[in-house]
Amino acid sequence: MKPAAERITLIGAGLNGPLLAILLIQRGFAVEVYERRADMRRVHASAGRSINLALSTRGIHALRQAGLWEQMRNLIIPMRGRMMHSIAGELTFQAYGKNETEVINSISRAELNIALMNAAEEHGATIHFGQRCAGYDLNTGAIRVRNEETGEETSQEAGVVIGCDGSASAIRTEMLRLNRFNFSQRYLDYGYKELTIPAGPSGEHLLETHALHIWPRGNHMLIALPNIDGTFACILFLPFDGADSFASLTTQEQVMQFFQSRFPDTVPLMPQLMDHYFANPTGAMVTIKCSPWHVEGRALLLGDAVHAIVPFFGQGLNCGFEDCTSLAGLLDRHGADWPRVFTEFEHERKVNTDAIADMAIENFTEMRDRVADSRFLFRKKVELALEARYPQLFVPKYAMVTFHRIPYSVALSRGSVQDRILAELCESIDRVEDLDWDKAERLIHRELTPLEIPQ
Ligand SMILES: Cc1cc2nc3c(=O)[nH]c(=O)nc-3n(C[C@H](O)[C@H](O)[C@H](O)COP(=O)(O)OP(=O)(O)OC[C@H]3O[C@@H](n4cnc5c(N)ncnc54)[C@H](O)[C@@H]3O)c2cc1C
Repeated sequence: MKPAAERITLIGAGLNGPLLAILLIQRGFAVEVYERRADMRRVHASAGRSINLALSTRGIHALRQAGLWEQMRNLIIPMRGRMMHSIAGELTFQAYGKNETEVINSISRAELNIALMNAAEEHGATIHFGQRCAGYDLNTGAIRVRNEETGEETSQEAGVVIGCDGSASAIRTEMLRLNRFNFSQRYLDYGYKELTIPAGPSGEHLLETHALHIWPRGNHMLIALPNIDGTFACILFLPFDGADSFASLTTQEQVMQFFQSRFPDTVPLMPQLMDHYFANPTGAMVTIKCSPWHVEGRALLLGDAVHAIVPFFGQGLNCGFEDCTSLAGLLDRHGADWPRVFTEFEHERKVNTDAIADMAIENFTEMRDRVADSRFLFRKKVELALEARYPQLFVPKYAMVTFHRIPYSVALSRGSVQDRILAELCESIDRVEDLDWDKAERLIHRELTPLEIPQ
């Protein structure tokens, strides 16, 4: 048996747990994972949490590091841009990036999770399913594990513990008892519900395949991401309370009338709208910030457990995967010097996870409202023109976050400087051809220094 410092217990076999297990095993550690759910490869999981995710550069980089990207490629559908649907059914396409390589990738959460768990087990991780972590002893480092079937609880000596147990983390709950543990959780007043657009008669997509579809309607919105089986996974975002809310749409007539008036082009595409609307749960969205992230060198939180964010930048998973590669990098530098690794990990990551948390909230307004605004679309065009001329100086914030591994905190701070520059340049023009390039040159060189773009 390996010494305690080389035995790692991960709590949670969601998306981050299995990836981290692989990166740790590749570095010589022995890994056991405790997962409260049954094994989804044997028991069908119920709907509830977004069926699809947008995977982008940071997530892909982590999968590459683990040697998994090639096998994941056949699970993804690249989405080249947003397809906005107006109430009248008009479509407007807005590319995400400057070329065909700047895309985000739709992937099924379940398929990704299964592929990651398979790979973790192939690498030698043991995953104990139906075993909930019911407590962590801050003094001894032992975990209390409850068998979800029998209710029996046992205490286990656990080596180094890493909580990858999501936004309701059991390890974090124990850490609330630490002296001076800072914790904040902020729920949005909005909830979400999964819906589905089935495939057409020959298994084809009924909407444009390579796009993330958005029906932006001010205080509510519907989005749809393509699946490889021809379906679209849709998410309806609505306020919990008030007019046009989950609380007010309680009968079939109300829901149908709401869809017919707000998203009329989707009604013929969703024959099971009523079944799904009433059967699927309404999810909440929370931002979690806390510190410290670790208990000396014995326990650490990672992923949603330590920085859950709202989904509007499509970065929760990507950011969690970046946590995993960051931790692996620190282990490569310092070995199993856990107190040092955990301290540096928090130092390196927190400033960035705080930044993406704030940008994700900001992006909610952009997605549900501003994407339908012609001035917003014009500014996006100007951004791309500026990037084409000044690729080392002016990279749009969306691109810094999504297509590069530029630290999120840099994307946030440069993004706000760039917003000011854009506002000034776009003030009195409606066409990119009318851009005052002399002014652009002056502003950009005055306000921005060359950007380090990690490859
Ligand atoms: C609607 C929605 C859309 C999203 N879209 C995107 C997107 O497009 N792109 C993106 O990058 N991110 C997206 N995200 C965020 C992404 O889903 C999360 O960031 C990601 O799932 C976090 O992974 P995790 O492993 O930290 O936590 P989770 O995936 O939540 O996994 C935690 C695991 O721990 C297990 N667990 C929990 N408690 C215990 C316990 N006490 N004992 C044992 N096991 C336990 C759970 O069963 C689960 O398997 C979205 C999130 C939502 C809600």
